[in-house]
Amino acid sequence: MTRHDLKIAGVIAALVVAIGLALGYGVGLLVAGRGDLPGAPAEGPAGFAAAQVETFPNPAGGSLPGYLDVYVSDYADLLDAEAEARIRTDLIELYDRTGIEMTVLTISSLSEYGHYGAIEPFATALFNAWGIGNRARNDGVLVLVALYDRQMRIEIGSGYDSSWDARMQRVIDHGFLPDFRDYAYQAGIETGVDETIRELTGHYPGTYGTGTFQQGWGWIVRRLAAFGDWIWGIFAVPLAGVGFWLRRYLRRRPRPCGDCGTLMQRMGETADDAHLDGGQRLEEFLKAVDYDVWACPSCAHMDILRYRNWFSRYGACPRCGYHTLSTTTKILRAATTKSTGQKRLTYDCKNCDYHDTELRTIPKITKSSSGSGRSSFGGGSSSGGGASGSW
Ligand SMILES: [Zn+2]
Ligand SMILES: [Zn+2]
Repeated sequence: MTRHDLKIAGVIAALVVAIGLALGYGVGLLVAGRGDLPGAPAEGPAGFAAAQVETFPNPAGGSLPGYLDVYVSDYADLLDAEAEARIRTDLIELYDRTGIEMTVLTISSLSEYGHYGAIEPFATALFNAWGIGNRARNDGVLVLVALYDRQMRIEIGSGYDSSWDARMQRVIDHGFLPDFRDYAYQAGIETGVDETIRELTGHYPGTYGTGTFQQGWGWIVRRLAAFGDWIWGIFAVPLAGVGFWLRRYLRRRPRPCGDCGTLMQRMGETADDAHLDGGQRLEEFLKAVDYDVWACPSCAHMDILRYRNWFSRYGACPRCGYHTLSTTTKILRAATTKSTGQKRLTYDCKNCDYHDTELRTIPKITKSSSGSGRSSFGGGSSSGGGASGSW
């Protein structure tokens, strides 16, 4: 890297930062104040889905809604299909990692179920009717949002001691309610569910077993994902363009001769072939490697630079060393859940006569015990622990 290169790199870095800031500001303007209007009619008749599933009797009078599935029951229709899928994925991951059964329920109002008064007894009765959480550990978590009552509750199983009430209160106050106050219910539920999971496990969804940096970026990526896939187009196109341009610039930038200091010249693709050996020409032909030949106009010095194609399917040959080794795989016996399989790998070099075969075992297919197919709760109970909030 010469000083000139550093200057160019600095300009590019500044441009990337500026573009990033401008994009962030632009996106911020686009999404600001996009929350639903208060009392906006829900898509489809509210309570329609409720009629589809069995309700439970409430011991204190009235009824309790049944669940659509064990992860998300969005009766108040506060979530679009994508958000609901994201939340479900997070809750499945939580269950798979920790065994914690956490479920999100939104309802239009408590009075719809013949309940008048505080949300707490309703949440406790519902938690116990559904049996959320492992029966022995009592580690279930219920997130209940009652839209028109403007009240919510996180009800936790009796396995959590009372110190968890304050932690859930913090999640409600800082995760759910800020967005709820802007009528951005979907954003509030997504943020709140993330924060609840972090409080329970110490990790945001999708960042189990990673460091702080990844967790930070995981959070940013999730926030971005909440806007929808189109956001990636905005970022990806200029970034890919800058990356492509930078790579091309670095590869083609004039470089001084190592012997006399004169700026060298890059030869064209056909001219440089004369300076490559047979193996190198074959690598270029197979698109495994690309070579640039630089010649000094004042002395005879010549540099041959090698650029590996990382998407090439040709590997390095153990005999001749060129990236001209092809690998073909033949499945001799497919693996099943009961027995291992076997495959044969055949290696052939296109440059020399190297040939080899190798037998490999294919591991047994493990039956997934993922929570994605879970259809009922574990029979856990709550004795009224948790926290509530209103907006
Ligand atoms: Zn020279
Ligand atoms: Zn070879």
